[in-house]
Amino acid sequence: MKCRVCGQAACISLKSYNTALCREDFVAFLEKRVLTTIQKYHLINETDRPIVAVSGGKDSLSLWYIMNKLGYPADGIYIDLGIEDYSSPSLTKIRNVADVLKRKVYVFPFREVFKKGIEELARTIRRPPCSACGTIKRYIMNRVCMDKGYNTLVTGHNLDDEAGALFGNILYWKDEYLWKKNLLLEGTEGHLSKKVKPLFLCSEREMAAYAILNNIDYIYEECPFSKNAKSLTYKSMLNKLEEASPGTKLQFIKGYLKQVKETERKESDFCTFCGYPTYGDMCNFCRMLERFHIDKTISFEEYDARDLDTQPEVMT
Ligand code: SF4
Ligand SMILES: [Zn+2]
Ligand SMILES: [Zn+2]
Repeated sequence: MKCRVCGQAACISLKSYNTALCREDFVAFLEKRVLTTIQKYHLINETDRPIVAVSGGKDSLSLWYIMNKLGYPADGIYIDLGIEDYSSPSLTKIRNVADVLKRKVYVFPFREVFKKGIEELARTIRRPPCSACGTIKRYIMNRVCMDKGYNTLVTGHNLDDEAGALFGNILYWKDEYLWKKNLLLEGTEGHLSKKVKPLFLCSEREMAAYAILNNIDYIYEECPFSKNAKSLTYKSMLNKLEEASPGTKLQFIKGYLKQVKETERKESDFCTFCGYPTYGDMCNFCRMLERFHIDKTISFEEYDARDLDTQPEVMT
């Protein structure tokens, strides 16, 4: 198998593009794909201050690395859910990448703030862990943007994530969610940050290969609560289709991008305590804090790799 660009030995075959590439040309191909997505869909403008939501996994860490390499300097934000054998190794890997990039990471210590883990909290408020976690993560990430002067939250959702979610939403005709799957969600000044997904057209396999080829040490394990997620079923069904007909996922998502039209956000009020968009007077997050008698002033741990003496390796 030879690289289509240089004719040297290829290290990866990309069936959906009917091609194979060597290490160097694959890295260049993937970075160009991210750059083209950012530019074509106007995800990040020159005046924006982006911040990447990092989990310790291959997608978000590679995205963070690529953005800084492509000239979009970005800090990171991590929600430390305090999950045994998962959260702390994830944070170590995030800090390692922060050291390489010489960037800052804001860490929200979930267990310290709520005095309980996500599972116990979800039980108390009678919601599934992922539903409670989703509300908290969306809120905290937005809050970091608002409090610390970032205006663009960048997430590592990849092609497989988006195709799986879209498939599920279409299957049950959840049309109220369909517009949320776009790769750019505009914000509301002073209340809500813009959200963008530069990996929208990059597959899970490509991202894993990119991380490995660039020695980005990421956490292989998934969050233990993701095991029963329906999205995994959708992803595996799409993988079967992809195997039978390479390029299916890419066509599915590209077709969607041609069809989708941004709809208006439905929440029209803002929380009287924190300003977050909501229905009614108080947002779900502030409600949760009140219920647990937690102060509404949220503080983050700040890990700043720029304080270290070393130079950023990726930029040299
Ligand atoms: S799998 Fe569920 S609990 Fe785990 S990080 Fe994702 S949303 Fe949160
Ligand atoms: Zn090559
Ligand atoms: Zn609020």
